[in-house]
Amino acid sequence: MKVTILGCGGSFGSPLAWQRYGNIDLSNKRNFRTRSSVLIEENKINILIDTSPDLRSQLYNAKCTNIDAVLYTHIHSDHTAGLPDMRAMSIINNKIIPAYMPSIMIDDMEKMYKYIFSGEKDYNPFMKIIELKDKINFKNILIETFKHNHGSIDVQTFRIGNFAYSTDIKKFYDNDIDKLRNLDLWIVGLLRDDEHPSHAGYDKIIEYINYIKPKKTIFTHMTALLDEKLLKSKCPKNVFPGYDGQIIEI
Ligand SMILES: [Zn+2]
Ligand SMILES: [Zn+2]
Repeated sequence: MKVTILGCGGSFGSPLAWQRYGNIDLSNKRNFRTRSSVLIEENKINILIDTSPDLRSQLYNAKCTNIDAVLYTHIHSDHTAGLPDMRAMSIINNKIIPAYMPSIMIDDMEKMYKYIFSGEKDYNPFMKIIELKDKINFKNILIETFKHNHGSIDVQTFRIGNFAYSTDIKKFYDNDIDKLRNLDLWIVGLLRDDEHPSHAGYDKIIEYINYIKPKKTIFTHMTALLDEKLLKSKCPKNVFPGYDGQIIEI
């Protein structure tokens, strides 16, 4: 399985507009982060998690010309607003692309993007909504998913084989974290060092890592308050800040 971090920035990206860049070193390219999404390639099937507002340039940079399915974590616009860019993927490959999403997203997404899912005037639909179930078999790739807490809403964690992706996380429910045992790679959201009302801080995420012990952990969804080198220097072994364009083979 090949995992490409298309973007690993928080909702504003990094650095922020208007030259507000927190404490990051602007001479380090890894501190330039687009909004979070990830591409998974397995047996020539391309699965995209989330459609970030930076999707067009992300797919261009990854030389990706085909997406077989999109999985949505939640409805926040930093995870959905690039959806219209999927039209190119549909046209190039002459197909309607499935978009898997939790039931709670469906009404709002249908309303916001009617032309994409139902067609409108001169536009034919180019994607179709499929309600997410706990387990999906997509072209023989088993995808497991469960909800975690993100403040006032829930977000889906996705697990494919020994890879899992948990962005925008405040906490796990019940014993769900146990579903993340034996991971080769966990990509997890770390917004900033301190706690945020809807995101866990560094200490909490490290607690989770120490509990499930993935072989490798990579942080995503980072604000401009997190400098890549400084963060790396304080991380335990096998824990790293991600960067846009990073490719991990597992
Ligand atoms: Zn987000
Ligand atoms: Zn969010």
